[in-house]
Amino acid sequence: MKEDYYEILEISKSATAAEVKKAYRKKAIKHHPDKNPGDHEAEAKFKKAAEAYEVLGDPNKRSRYDQYGHQAFEGGGGFGGGGMNMDDIFSQFGDIFGSGFGGGGFGGGFGGGGRRTVKGSNLRIRVQLSLEEIATGVEKKIKVKRKKLAKGTTYKTCSTCNGQGQVTRIQNTILGRMQTSATCSACGGLGQVVDSKPPNADAEGMLLTEETVSIKIPAGVVDGMQLKVSGKGNDAPGDGIPGDLLVAIEEKPHDRLQREGDNLHYDLYISISDAVLGTSKEIETVTGKVRIKIDAGAQSGKILRLRNKGIPSINGYGTGDLLVHVNVWTPKSLSKEQKEFFERMSDDEHFEPKPEKEDKSFFEKVKDMFS
Ligand SMILES: [Zn+2]
Repeated sequence: MKEDYYEILEISKSATAAEVKKAYRKKAIKHHPDKNPGDHEAEAKFKKAAEAYEVLGDPNKRSRYDQYGHQAFEGGGGFGGGGMNMDDIFSQFGDIFGSGFGGGGFGGGFGGGGRRTVKGSNLRIRVQLSLEEIATGVEKKIKVKRKKLAKGTTYKTCSTCNGQGQVTRIQNTILGRMQTSATCSACGGLGQVVDSKPPNADAEGMLLTEETVSIKIPAGVVDGMQLKVSGKGNDAPGDGIPGDLLVAIEEKPHDRLQREGDNLHYDLYISISDAVLGTSKEIETVTGKVRIKIDAGAQSGKILRLRNKGIPSINGYGTGDLLVHVNVWTPKSLSKEQKEFFERMSDDEHFEPKPEKEDKSFFEKVKDMFS
């Protein structure tokens, strides 16, 4: 069982954005690896807090987490929350450490000090999916414009930091002399600067190129979810590693089917004569059409449950159902003969409502549906 993000940061579910940030900063400072060298427990806590903040610090992710819990970010495809490494944490949350870290006491020299691995920036795209595609999973080929290192770009050692990637300063403070180190502004921590580049490349030696990226989307994704395709963001200069491509899932509304978690709902309208005599009807599902039988004497409001005809769970816990809501259509205009027929039936004992136990009330049905 994964720990609750609110519990990790020790805040209430109603905490404001400022309170979330403050709580994370407190945890990050307490468990910062520079403060706890060699302490793996502190490192694990530091990572956990960062993961919690990645979600709770982002209003969109937070609302998804509140709605779906951890499952909004987990599952096969390597979603946002999981598997953060230290570089991710420092590059994503640089701002939160503010002057207390990046520019001061702690510095960028994480993991042995000196030059850090530079990661290219992430790219973000949206992918629209139909319910049918979500039900089966789909592979999408998407054209992406990403910055790639131009052939012929060469680098030389940065003269500002002598290839160290950071500059060290001695400062006199009220606490005495303090050695602080900051990322070199001339090379951005890379330790290298562009020496020569092809004329069509930009200042960093990059070219904007269009590339077709194939994205495997697992079955059961939810609108607003984000998938990560590692290494398909912008290239990093020098020997850095490319950023990631972040794919936001958008669910296209369906004409006839309404999604509710992994279950689907379908409104079926039948005529009064079909309800009286019984019939069979073709129903559209996400995996093709199926024929269902309506017994004679069907009541309006009846719900037929087609097992496993919904959406597969993103976590692999089975498949939802398709709930067919039966609505009996009352004719709004009648011929003279039809009107006479119904007038004759107004006192007929067969037309008298006599609901029995199996004709459950709407509320009992709803209760049943969620049990
Ligand atoms: Zn430099």
